Amino acid sequence: MDIALRYLVLSIIPSLLAYYFAPRFGRGRKRWAIACFFTSYPGLILLGILPTQAIPTLESYRRQHPNCARNGGGMTCVHCGSRSIRLWRQQVLLSVRHYHRCNHCGKTLYTS
Ligand SMILES: [Zn+2]
Repeated sequence: MDIALRYLVLSIIPSLLAYYFAPRFGRGRKRWAIACFFTSYPGLILLGILPTQAIPTLESYRRQHPNCARNGGGMTCVHCGSRSIRLWRQQVLLSVRHYHRCNHCGKTLYTS
């Protein structure tokens, strides 16, 4: 019982937290859940402090993928072509960033 509790506290909980919070940092859920399963809480800290890969702004996304601009003014996902794009809001103190993520494939497309 003691080993099961230790396993839950040191592996499962960090893994679930990483699965939940990874998209807020522009990272993949599954990859970080697996990483935090093996690295426990230090992995969770790395999730928050490692620099994220540069996510383009709407203007540069439109420039890079001109075929993703729709006539009505919306955008489509460059990875799967889905038109369903969700807005994620990340607030750190007074700084607010908006991430636009594809509802179908889950990739972060651009910021605004
Ligand atoms: Zn997509």
